[in-house]
Amino acid sequence: MKLVTVAGTRPEIIKLADLIPMLNKYNHSVLYTGQHYSPNMKDIFFDELNLKPDYDLKCNTSEIEPLRIEILKTLRVIDPSCVIVYGDTSSSLAAALAAKEIGSKLIHIEAGVRDFDMAVPEEGIRIQIDSMADYLLCPSAFCQTVLSYENTVGKIFLTGNLIVDVCMRLCEIATKQFHDRSIDLPNEYLLLTIHRPENSDDPVKLEMLRKHLEKIKYKVIFPIHPRTKNNLEKYNIKLPSNVTSLEPTSYLQFLYLLKNCKLVLTDSGGVQEEAVVLRKPCITLRHTSARWETILLKANILFPLDRTDSLSDVVESMIPAKINRNPYGKNVAKATMKIIEKTVINDV
Ligand code: UDP
Repeated sequence: MKLVTVAGTRPEIIKLADLIPMLNKYNHSVLYTGQHYSPNMKDIFFDELNLKPDYDLKCNTSEIEPLRIEILKTLRVIDPSCVIVYGDTSSSLAAALAAKEIGSKLIHIEAGVRDFDMAVPEEGIRIQIDSMADYLLCPSAFCQTVLSYENTVGKIFLTGNLIVDVCMRLCEIATKQFHDRSIDLPNEYLLLTIHRPENSDDPVKLEMLRKHLEKIKYKVIFPIHPRTKNNLEKYNIKLPSNVTSLEPTSYLQFLYLLKNCKLVLTDSGGVQEEAVVLRKPCITLRHTSARWETILLKANILFPLDRTDSLSDVVESMIPAKINRNPYGKNVAKATMKIIEKTVINDV
């Protein structure tokens, strides 16, 4: 059986890091589309996680149609019996469409994730991939329940979230690696990431972010996504003096920052998951979230940037949060392999 895993962005490289070596025991190839292509959004992660794509398409786009055309050309050459896609990126949808076109089986990892808001661009992508997938691997019981309410045709499994294995394993290494290094970090700080178009592309929201941050009494460490950096410059918005911005960090550096912060402010899906795994309180700077498990556990709370009440007060109320449950399971790469070995290989 020939297997192909398709990835195209930073979070996919990270989340697939422990599964790919296990899949490599089989006739397996990794196809990287190049949706994220700058060295600090791509190469740094392949290097640090010790991975290498077998096919690097260098598409440099997030447009679905050109991605689909390029992926299709390569899939026709490889002729896999099963294609694995992760999450809700344009690359994943393009790969799912291409997989169906060549008559391959499709595994969707991170199935059943929902924002419950069709205005969120990823929502349509997730629903479309879930409707095409033959095997839907859910990261949480919540996502499995969501799929049980939809007319899902494929086989549904609960595996847990692959981020748990990667995050736990690398957090230990990050702690050791940076332990003796004099990173110039304040004793107490909040960690901030912002990259979603609904926040980063809107000058009004960016200005509100600046005003909210200014009133927070903590230092804020802000690894800044290229899109957000460009827009802050474009709209001439200067971050307040309690905010230290950094280039996007490597994964180990990011985990070190997360492990040692008091709380994380983010609009990233992956960071909401990592926060609960590492037991860090999280404030999601959005009006909705696709990580409802973390909100139900009170480890995460929504605060869209256009709210006019005090973010600082919400920070103070969240810092003492006791997070004692991880909704995303453990040994997830092994659980995923078990399903591939027991069910998928038998079916194809
Ligand atoms: N991340 C990182 N360096 C950074 C910011 C984030 O390594 O400077 C990691 C983070 O730990 C998480 C992933 O990137 O695993 C999240 O990616 P992103 O926020 O781009 O995407 P999303 O999860 O929202 O799809």
